[in-house]
Amino acid sequence: MTKTVVILGGSVAGLHVAHALLKKNLQDVKVVLVSKNTHFYWNLASVRAIIPGQIKDEDIFQPLETALSRYPADSWELVIGSARAADFDTKTVEIARADNTVTILPYHQLVLATGARSTAPDMPWKASGSYAEALASLHGTAARVADAKHIVVAGAGGTGIEVAGELGYEYGKTKEIILLCSGDKVAGGHGVAAAAANELRKLNVAIKYGARVQETRPAAAEGGGKTEVILANGETLTTDLYLPTTGLVPNTEYIPARFLSADAGSHTVLVDEYLRVLDAENVWACGDVVSKPRAGFFITQKQAASVAKNVEAVLAGLAPAVAKGPPVDIFACAVGRGRGVGRINNSIRMPSIMVWAAKGRTLAVPMVKGYIDGSVA
Ligand SMILES: Cc1cc2nc3c(=O)[nH]c(=O)nc-3n(C[C@H](O)[C@H](O)[C@H](O)COP(=O)(O)OP(=O)(O)OC[C@H]3O[C@@H](n4cnc5c(N)ncnc54)[C@H](O)[C@@H]3O)c2cc1C
Repeated sequence: MTKTVVILGGSVAGLHVAHALLKKNLQDVKVVLVSKNTHFYWNLASVRAIIPGQIKDEDIFQPLETALSRYPADSWELVIGSARAADFDTKTVEIARADNTVTILPYHQLVLATGARSTAPDMPWKASGSYAEALASLHGTAARVADAKHIVVAGAGGTGIEVAGELGYEYGKTKEIILLCSGDKVAGGHGVAAAAANELRKLNVAIKYGARVQETRPAAAEGGGKTEVILANGETLTTDLYLPTTGLVPNTEYIPARFLSADAGSHTVLVDEYLRVLDAENVWACGDVVSKPRAGFFITQKQAASVAKNVEAVLAGLAPAVAKGPPVDIFACAVGRGRGVGRINNSIRMPSIMVWAAKGRTLAVPMVKGYIDGSVA
């Protein structure tokens, strides 16, 4: 009897698992990839793609169908839709399809790879809706970036630093760019904070510390689509464009609460050392939906590889193996198209040129090819 592996989420975690399983050409196994979007999205480059003319759509969006169609047609299925309920007892997931029909998908093995979305859903940092919506968000943001004279970026973590850096590199001399940092150091205060702040300053990005956003609202009096950004200290900034980069929300609303972390409302999926969902049978999770040890691309890649191996092992009646993380923990931020900051394992500072060569030069856009031809897995 054919066994079905259902993978929820068609981004770096889900597509990686799909490739890894399909490449094995497993007998009597069908891989069903469920994705809200028809396209794979290289969101890591979204920070530069909001600068008009820098990155072509087709460099960061590629059809999932193209990625899967290299495998035998009876070994996979692509379902465009959104998981809206999961029952780990009856081993079924409910999918609201893009065509407004609802499908109940039974599975033998289930992989949760639905990631996390930006707290501001209209920002293009992640694809949280359809392909058309992701494109509209990206193009709309780029158009507003082009028109704005004054831009406020909220959140001075990795994404905020990269967004401010890209804006500073392109427009530092022609537009006013302000980065709001809720604490007294950017990048959560870790080792690269001073270097990142220094690089941003060189690009004429003004950093405002102790600036926690309390509320935003349209600036009625100003007209012309301006936004008022009200800070917790009572100060109000009026800007042409507000770009929030603060925080991620795990896409886990379809998962029963007992399988989710209750820590500070994090709602990430709870897994054991095999990346098996705690207290569920034949359910696995990887990537930002787990966000442990943190949400990151290299961690996601390693987790996806481990999950694929474990799914394959269990399908063959073998025991799963403890999941492996990356050999080193790397945090690297491009700061504009010319420089960057980074560290390896909290102790080794990466020189700017190294971050630029490894990341900032291309924002790893060439890696998209590997997700489409399968060589990533
Ligand atoms: C701007 C930015 C820059 C980054 N840069 C770096 C970096 O330089 N280095 C690094 O290590 N990490 C970086 N990251 C983190 C990295 O992008 C994530 O770790 C990675 O994308 C996680 O992949 P994922 O597949 O787990 O989740 P996601 O990328 O969040 O993808 C989840 C997918 O599931 C889909 N989905 C959601 N809900 C459902 C549902 N109910 N049903 C079906 N599908 C669903 C989504 O539409 C999406 O396609 C960056 C993140 C951002 C936002």
